[in-house]
Amino acid sequence: MREQIMGLITPTMAIVFLAVFVIMWWRGKMGAYVLGFAAGYLFFALGFAATHLLDTGSPYVFHVTQFFYSMSVASGAWALTKRANQPNYLGVLLTIYGFSAATLAVAVATSPDISSRLIIVNVGYGAMYLVLVMALLGAQRREAIDKLLILMHALLAAQFMIRPVLTLLVEQSIPADVYRQSIYYSVLNLSLAVISLMTAMVLVGACVYDQIKAVREQAELDGLTGLRTRRAFEQNVVEMIERAKLECVPVALVVADIDHFKAVNDVWGHQVGDMAIRQFGDVIKSTIRETDIAGRIGGEEFCILAWNCNAKAAEALAERIRSDFAQVQVVGMPDDHRLTASFGVAGRGEGEGYGRLFARTDAALYRAKEGGRNRTVRDGAGKKRAIITPINKTAGELREVGT
Ligand code: GH3
Ligand code: MG
Ligand code: MG
Repeated sequence: MREQIMGLITPTMAIVFLAVFVIMWWRGKMGAYVLGFAAGYLFFALGFAATHLLDTGSPYVFHVTQFFYSMSVASGAWALTKRANQPNYLGVLLTIYGFSAATLAVAVATSPDISSRLIIVNVGYGAMYLVLVMALLGAQRREAIDKLLILMHALLAAQFMIRPVLTLLVEQSIPADVYRQSIYYSVLNLSLAVISLMTAMVLVGACVYDQIKAVREQAELDGLTGLRTRRAFEQNVVEMIERAKLECVPVALVVADIDHFKAVNDVWGHQVGDMAIRQFGDVIKSTIRETDIAGRIGGEEFCILAWNCNAKAAEALAERIRSDFAQVQVVGMPDDHRLTASFGVAGRGEGEGYGRLFARTDAALYRAKEGGRNRTVRDGAGKKRAIITPINKTAGELREVGT
């Protein structure tokens, strides 16, 4: 009786983890992969309950538990590969399960001793975990939590391969009818309880980490355009300028401001004004490269830091945005109306920080407004200026170098 109650601790824990994952997915509005973790624990609880409650003398009990445990591993693998944006290899996992199940059927039919059955099923789980580890190792994203997940699953793979062999070396053979009194069964109980607890803690940790990261990223993005907020943009620019100094990479700043925007709000209303801001943001997003960053730094003011780019190339970038935006039909405005924007551009001078660079760029924008709007003014255009030329960069990475 005592043994029966102890045996129910692990499936009960698994049900609690299942509930935690469902709640995190549902209330935390997390990705479907969290449900995969929940499914993993559901199958695990069913598998464990089957091992514990079904008659171990029955020829089907190993097939039933193997099915549930394999589905548990497959659900977890699906979830983790989805989280890491990797192919899920479900076909490979199910093939391993099928092969292992067929071998198990032969073992069940040919021997009443269960040692061979235990080795077959455990090596099967170990192989499935190994496939998962290989898939996770292929992922681009490798933060500390991802490394921990990989390490933990590598250990899981190893323990499934090693545990049955070691225990059986001690125990030699286990007849099916005394399976639950065996040392193997005690070791299994203990290790499954520890493994499920450890795994759940790391998986919950990964979910919490993902959630915090998503909230932080969300807070750094402007709700209207999806570009960075002023604070996030300035933080990133300062970091990028420090990197540019170290690596001797030229960077340039572009500041843009939509022309006569007050009139847009006054004549067509704030909603149309918002739409114009959003569409201007879209033009910026589709024009800049992945290495550049852009932010909405004021109502209808935008700023771009162009990486590995001198002032003249940044001027060409600003001109592309200007001419593209001048053709955009803003939703809610009459067909024959188009908006324009003015741009200031400056390349970072030697030893210059963000403050001074921004001041020069903003002054250029002011001159663009003064000069009649719908134009780009480059700071220092026409004057001689020292240019930082990039080193160790391929020609393809450079937009254009030299004035
Ligand atoms: P200029 O050509 O000199 O830039 O003229 P302007 O009318 O665009 O002048 P300014 O840049 O000073 O105008 C900014 C206006 O943008 C003022 C404000 O009503 C409006 N604005 C600021 N934030 C938002 C916003 O989030 N949505 C909308 N619809 N309007 C905004
Ligand atoms: Mg304006
Ligand atoms: Mg403005």
